[in-house]
Amino acid sequence: MILKSANGELITTEYVLPPDNRAAVSSKRSSMETPVIDITDLSKYYGKTRGIEHVNLEIGEGEIFGFIGPNGAGKSTTIRILMNLIFQTGGTARIMGMDVIKETKKIKKISGYIPSDAGLYSSMDALEFFRYCIRFYQVKNGDQRINELAQMFDVDLTRKVSDLSMGNRKKVSIIQSLLHNPKLLILDEPTTGLDPLMQSNFFELLRSENRKGMTIFFSSHILGEVQKLCKRVAIIKEGRIIQVEDIETLRKKQLKKVFIEFNGRVKKEDLIIPGIEGEIGGSDNIQSFIYSGDINMLVGFLSRYTIINLMIEEPSLEEIFMHYYK
Ligand code: ADP
Repeated sequence: MILKSANGELITTEYVLPPDNRAAVSSKRSSMETPVIDITDLSKYYGKTRGIEHVNLEIGEGEIFGFIGPNGAGKSTTIRILMNLIFQTGGTARIMGMDVIKETKKIKKISGYIPSDAGLYSSMDALEFFRYCIRFYQVKNGDQRINELAQMFDVDLTRKVSDLSMGNRKKVSIIQSLLHNPKLLILDEPTTGLDPLMQSNFFELLRSENRKGMTIFFSSHILGEVQKLCKRVAIIKEGRIIQVEDIETLRKKQLKKVFIEFNGRVKKEDLIIPGIEGEIGGSDNIQSFIYSGDINMLVGFLSRYTIINLMIEEPSLEEIFMHYYK
C-alpha cells in the first residue's frame, strides 16, 4: 500500500525486496538488558530507490552513539523510521523494547528528536511554541526549563518562530527536543547552522545530560564532530552499516592525508614507507596518500629528497571510506 506522509512524501508499507542478511554487518551486542535502540534487518526503499538495506544496530542505555556517513548514506532514513515519520520496507525497530510503529505515542513521550532540516514554520512566538510543547508533555516547572534553555542558547522568546534565521530555528528545535527531559535524544545532523561557540555549548549540554542518564543517538557526516562527543560509532555507506567501532579504536588509527611535491620525478614504487594506507595517487613530482604511521618516520624518510611542498591534513570521511574501509 502506498500512503502519503504529513510532509507529502510517498511512503510504502510493502516489502519490496526480500531480506538478505548475508551482507549485513552484525552490530548486535550480547548483553541481557533491553537495548534503548534495537534495529534488526531494517530496510527502506523509496519505490525502487535504496534508502537503507539490512541495517542492524543495538544501542545501550547511557551511550552517546554516533551514526556517521556521507550525505545520502541513509542516516535520516534510519532516524525517520525510528521516529515513525516513514515506514520501513522490511525489518523491525524498537525503542526501549517498544515497536516504533505500534507504540509511537509512548516512545514520543520519552524521547526527543531534532530533525536535520529544523523545518519549524510556526506562526507562534518562541515562548508560545515552547509552552505548547510543555503542555503536550505535561512538564512540571516548564517555564523554568524554557528560561534555562533559552538563556543557554541565547534565543529571543518574543520572536515569531517562522521569522527566525535557520540557525535560530535550529536552536528552537534543540530546546524543544530537551524540554521534557527525554530518556533518549535522537539528533539528525544537529549542528548544521550553529556557530562554533553554540556548538561547543550544545556539546557541553549533551555531555551533562548524558551524565544524568540520557542516551544519545547522534548522526553526522563530520567525523571530527562525532569523535568529540561519542564513545561508539556506526559507519553507514550506501545504505549499509560497514563498521561499528569504539571511537578510541578509530582515534588510534590517526589517519592523515599527505601531499608531497618533489623537486623532480619520484616513482611511487620508491615510496616504501610503513603506514601508507591503500594506493598512492599522483604522477611525476607530486604524490599523495593516506598515512597512518608516525609523522617523524615519514619526515625522516622524505629527508633524502628535495621537497618543494609538503602538506599533511585530516582526511575527509569520504577519503577514509575510500582508502581505509574498502
Ligand atoms: P543521509 O541522511 O545519510 O544523507 P538519506 O537517508 O537522506 O541519507 O538518504 C538515503 C538515500 O535515500 C539517498 O539515496 C536518498 O536519495 C534516498 N532518499 C531519501 N529520501 C528520499 C525520498 N523522499 N524519496 C526518494 N529517495 C529518497
